[in-house]
Amino acid sequence: EELRGEASGNKSPRQVPGYTYSRVEPTPVQDPHLLAWSDDLAAFLGLAKPAERSPAVAALAGNLVTQSMKPFAARYGGHQFGNWAGQLGDGRAISLGELTATDGTNWEIQLKGAGPTPYSRRADGRAVLRSSLREFLCSEAMHYLGVPTTRALSLVGTGDTVVRDMFYNGNPQDEPGAIVARVAPTFIRFGNFQIMVATGELDNLRALADYVIRHHYPELGEPSPEVYLKWFDEICRRTAVMIAYWQSVGFVHGVMNTDNMSILGLTIDYGPYGWLEPYDPDWTPNTTDFGYRRYSFGQQPNVALWNLAQLGRALTPLVENPKELNAGLEVYAETLAKTQHAMMLKKLGITSATAQDADQNLLEALPQALTDAEMDMTLFFRNLSHTAPALLTRPENEEALLRDLVEANSYAPPQSQGHGALLQWLARYAQRLRQETAGPEAIRESMLSANPKYVLRNYLAQKAIDAAATGDLSYLNTLMQVLKTPFAEQPEHEEFAAKRPEWARHKPGCATLSCSS
Ligand code: AMP
Ligand code: MG
Ligand code: MG
Repeated sequence: EELRGEASGNKSPRQVPGYTYSRVEPTPVQDPHLLAWSDDLAAFLGLAKPAERSPAVAALAGNLVTQSMKPFAARYGGHQFGNWAGQLGDGRAISLGELTATDGTNWEIQLKGAGPTPYSRRADGRAVLRSSLREFLCSEAMHYLGVPTTRALSLVGTGDTVVRDMFYNGNPQDEPGAIVARVAPTFIRFGNFQIMVATGELDNLRALADYVIRHHYPELGEPSPEVYLKWFDEICRRTAVMIAYWQSVGFVHGVMNTDNMSILGLTIDYGPYGWLEPYDPDWTPNTTDFGYRRYSFGQQPNVALWNLAQLGRALTPLVENPKELNAGLEVYAETLAKTQHAMMLKKLGITSATAQDADQNLLEALPQALTDAEMDMTLFFRNLSHTAPALLTRPENEEALLRDLVEANSYAPPQSQGHGALLQWLARYAQRLRQETAGPEAIRESMLSANPKYVLRNYLAQKAIDAAATGDLSYLNTLMQVLKTPFAEQPEHEEFAAKRPEWARHKPGCATLSCSS
């Protein structure tokens, strides 16, 4: 009620100046049936698992809209690949309203793929099973890794087909449709603010900022020019923490447009994302970005800063001296550097009590060495957690321990030239490790808690998709179970920790993804 919404309910694509959102009903689907369910999130929200076909599943597909639901699509704009794209908005996402969880907090429930809205432009408002399954799985996997993220409650098959040109080869095909129910305190993005400035709606800009501060940053106090500055600092701080986590687990978002940046610093909009397998800062899974590689792994910290600068620009009408917004960008840079440094030391088993300036040099040399050695990022750090204590208890075996670590987790052939620099780096690391005061077991425990064994490798998601497409949901369910405790040893599920197999190297969905979803 604090924000101006358009009430017509008209779904035809159009510009919607003057409004922050549009009331719009989901469009019913043929045969909604439950494919996957996030039981922990459901329990937290106080929801019981519904039967495969049931009124609750109909609601999670948009077929049943109850009296208390007030469905809407948000209006936002954004910079796409660096260019201002004008009005975008929720083109296929429709929020049903908010739910109060068992701890009294409020959570927005949003259906992605629920049909056209005024913001659908030329598209159909729908989502295919493969992309929906990927969003469902990855949101939850990220949560269990401890990464700030939106959540996913359910994956519902629609019984309808959706037409997509998956490979952009002019050969569109029918694919099964699906709807994910996403859950977050709010889905407001940088782009919700940007659009207000682009169309000169400063009253809506202020109302939206006040709404977000009052409901989501209440600790900052009542909105004022100083509070807007503090708020921007806090958005920058949270975004830095999110990016530090991405870099520490090897997550590549794939489409860091400003409309895909959450105002709460959450990972949002899982599209053509991917996970680093061979370590490579230039890697991106997104085929649309193969030219400039704007959103590659190594670019994510810079792009987030650029995006924050665009948000800062949108907030200038709210503050007395726009230059003061630069402080937020400094908060970002400092928080990112500090958090990444601390996270990397922990991944390496180096405790801050003995932290030294020389450690910075050691850390800076690692990415290039990992790249040259074609190391599997996840396995390198996970197995280093066992190699490190062994280096302390069996120093005489150093050479063999390090060679085994490198060869077992590399995508390059044994004794490949690229291994040399990493072996040298590891010898430096072994020396540094011996200065630690913590014992080998304490070091192992600490490293295992910072280096996940199980991440949503690109080929694992694809295997879940291929099985689900034939009606077999067992792989998806097992995978989801495994990803719930990514730092635990799960001896019965070793296969989910395996290096990318050769067959997955160039397979679409495993190595490359498009935005067509
Ligand atoms: P994305 O690149 O996925 O973040 O999407 C950019 C914009 O396109 C957003 O406004 C989306 O809501 C919209 N969009 C993407 N796919 C569809 C679709 N199938 N139907 C309607 N709008 C879409
Ligand atoms: Mg998006
Ligand atoms: Mg998307």
